[in-house]
Amino acid sequence: MTDISRRKLIAGGTALGLCASAADRAALSMEIKRSGAEASRKGQADRFTGTVWIDPLFQAAEPGRVGGNHVTYEPGARTYWHSHPLGQTLIITSGLGWVQREGGPIEEVRPGDIVWFPAGEKHWHGASASTAMTHIAITESLNGKNADFLDAVSDDQYRR
Ligand code: MN
Repeated sequence: MTDISRRKLIAGGTALGLCASAADRAALSMEIKRSGAEASRKGQADRFTGTVWIDPLFQAAEPGRVGGNHVTYEPGARTYWHSHPLGQTLIITSGLGWVQREGGPIEEVRPGDIVWFPAGEKHWHGASASTAMTHIAITESLNGKNADFLDAVSDDQYRR
């Protein structure tokens, strides 16, 4: 059994309420996940507008909660309105992006900028209209869920 599938089994067992045994815990050790080991996947059409590529970076095994994705938005692409049960941190790594919390203005974000959304705050993030944007998203899960997706950001809302 590979280290990764063993980790998934352990994570699945603890998600079912089983306690990780001392032997299970001993099976967890340093892991290097090589770049390109996991295929890019397209953002789901009921969560994103436009073309978005998601590269999964990491997901902690239970009882850890933190996970990370590298997300690339083509110009004009963005998430739907959504929130995160335990909040989210975005680290902008390339391009020019737009982010907005409900009730606030659309803000421009550039590489090196870090955005924090508190738990439950309705928001969206994406590329600007003419330039792609990539961010690392770090999100913690609560009861196995790390986001609640709502409506699309309309073309009228996506205007600056
Ligand atoms: Mn978000």
